[in-house]
Amino acid sequence: MSNERYYSILYQYKQTRKGIGLKQSDYTIATLASHSSLQILKGAKDEGFKTIAICKRDSEHVYKTFNVADEIIVVDDFSELTTLDKQLKDQNAVLIPHGSFVTYLQMDKLMDLKTNYFGNRNILNWEVDRGQQRKWLSKASVIQPKIFKTPDDIEGPVIVKFFGAAGGKGYFLTHSREDFDRKIAQHHGKEYILQEYVVGTPVYAHFFHSPLTGELEIMGFDKRYESNVDSVGRVAAKEQVELEIETSYTIVGNMGLVVRESLLPEIYAMGERVVEASKTLDGVGLFGPFCLETVITPDLKMYVFEISARIVAGTNPYINGSPYTDLRYNEPMSTGRRIAREIKQAIEQNETEKIFK
Ligand code: AMP
Repeated sequence: MSNERYYSILYQYKQTRKGIGLKQSDYTIATLASHSSLQILKGAKDEGFKTIAICKRDSEHVYKTFNVADEIIVVDDFSELTTLDKQLKDQNAVLIPHGSFVTYLQMDKLMDLKTNYFGNRNILNWEVDRGQQRKWLSKASVIQPKIFKTPDDIEGPVIVKFFGAAGGKGYFLTHSREDFDRKIAQHHGKEYILQEYVVGTPVYAHFFHSPLTGELEIMGFDKRYESNVDSVGRVAAKEQVELEIETSYTIVGNMGLVVRESLLPEIYAMGERVVEASKTLDGVGLFGPFCLETVITPDLKMYVFEISARIVAGTNPYINGSPYTDLRYNEPMSTGRRIAREIKQAIEQNETEKIFK
């Protein structure tokens, strides 16, 4: 082979690896069939992509009925995603991460995947480590609930949270060392944090930050429906005491919400500061969808108690768009569809290296 030909083939190979010269029809959007996958796959189809759902054996038949996956790959466990890596890469799939990626996959395995991945996976490390998350939010100058270092420091209402995104399962409230010792006994060995319990209304703010345009969009808001905390009000206070009912925070579903309009500037500014601060974490920072989980007090102070650095299930009520996306787009724009639109634009502009990290 002549040198010229050799370098021409090498150049072509490198361009293809960077995604340059590939068309939208060369890509397939793939995700784990859970959490917000129906929205992601539907959004991808609406934007003209082929789709793959990686589905647990026992839920395959349900996912089929929604008709949003062109192909279903059946697994016994989501951790098998790592063994599918080569197949997905050969199909030029783009993985869209969501809450189940954080819950069911080990971080180091996620980092090693060779398949295209929408988002900056470094940032997920910051999401799963509560200490790092706190540093990030501090850099962004958002108000956060206090953290108590040891059970002896407990003062006022405290929420005890376990590590890992398990949907609030097992969280409990406490107010003293004695009460804490009694309640923690059934959770032996689990890592936890002690966080000030802020009395107010929980509001989850959904954002999308485009690395292509540099713009930040408010996608919507939700409130969560958690068991049993959202139902203890159905039992009279006297009975709550007599029955020794203890609150827990297991997520069951999500409900749409609009916030009073005067809160929007501060919420947007918080989102901007969080994106800016993220750039100092690894030089690239956060992009795509994310969520600030807040509690708003009666004097309208917004405490951010957590950040999700990827799509949240709270966007699921808006498969047809939210009141906020309705303002900006003249078509139904879910967060899942917004992700697909960003990928589509990056492909058209030969800029996929900006969105696959
Ligand atoms: P999370 O799993 O972090 O989203 O938390 C589960 C639920 O616990 C939230 O929806 C809130 O209702 C509640 N929660 C979490 N942290 C706090 C806090 N610091 N103060 C008040 N409520 C909280």
